[in-house]
Amino acid sequence: MRLAERDRWRYPTDNKTHVNFQTANLMTSLPQYSISSSCPEAFLPVSRSQVDQGTIKFCQATKDGFEIESVIIPMGAEDHAWKTLCVSSQIGCARGCTFCQTGRMGFIRNLTANEIVGQAHAARVRFGAQIRNVVFMGMGEPLDNLDHVVAAVRLFHEDRKHPVARRRITISTVGKCAGIRRLSRLGWKRLGLAVSLNAPNDEIRSQIMPINQTDPMDQLHEAIRSYPIRGGGHVLIEYVLLKELNDQPDHARELAEYLKGLRTCVNLIPWNPCEGMAFETPDEETIDRFQQILMEAGQLAFQRHTKGRNAMGACGQLGNPALRLAKKA
Ligand code: SF4
Repeated sequence: MRLAERDRWRYPTDNKTHVNFQTANLMTSLPQYSISSSCPEAFLPVSRSQVDQGTIKFCQATKDGFEIESVIIPMGAEDHAWKTLCVSSQIGCARGCTFCQTGRMGFIRNLTANEIVGQAHAARVRFGAQIRNVVFMGMGEPLDNLDHVVAAVRLFHEDRKHPVARRRITISTVGKCAGIRRLSRLGWKRLGLAVSLNAPNDEIRSQIMPINQTDPMDQLHEAIRSYPIRGGGHVLIEYVLLKELNDQPDHARELAEYLKGLRTCVNLIPWNPCEGMAFETPDEETIDRFQQILMEAGQLAFQRHTKGRNAMGACGQLGNPALRLAKKA
């Protein structure tokens, strides 16, 4: 998708800001893109917000009647000044992962670069958030909306007033190999990549992630291996633990074997319960054992402490049930 003229970013609080992006040498179809004065998207109203243990989930109402969901996550202690902002790149998602609330919405539309960066603006203006990191882990598959996502990364990085360095930005993908390769060709060694793997083998992955039918794990392995990462960096492997489906010791051993030869760090995420889904969350002992097996095999692994579960702002929980119902009607 190419960016339209109407997508030029207009920034309301700093009339001096003006950035042009020369794209001639980049492996993307983006046209020149500029930041100048006044940004309508920055004022998209915050329609709802919910706080849980310092985590703030908020929604901005779009002009076409949908909602953009974002989550402000404290770094470290609840009252820590610096925050990580989890942004959405789409409304809904076409990828249909069976454990994910957003996947159940189906795809509604892509967000523009302005709407993506506007989430950070709303977080700062409405909630006073000091944003240190940006993660594309909200609604949507970022690599299905790559032009706008790449433009948004540039806008974050080159913002004169509130820059977010590329090394502090992470793109999370369902494992779309062509998109990872395209991202690689940008040559941005300091842009973080996270891959949502969630299974130790093709059989299990295909059950829960339809992408695996077109982008199986051997191809994904190759795409991850070729992703440029800075000196001591790693590709983050996200692994949602689903009771008895992918959380057993044999699964951990198989996962460790699969990751051999890759510079990766595994983020173990206990599944966040969502209404109407048949999965269950493993107990702590199972999760600890899974982590231990990975570490004994020489694989970096940590557990994500789930924040925002009560606010439905935790991993895989974004998505507006009302929009889902409206879409079905
Ligand atoms: S896990 Fe990510 S890619 Fe899969 S359906 Fe959910 S939002 Fe889409």
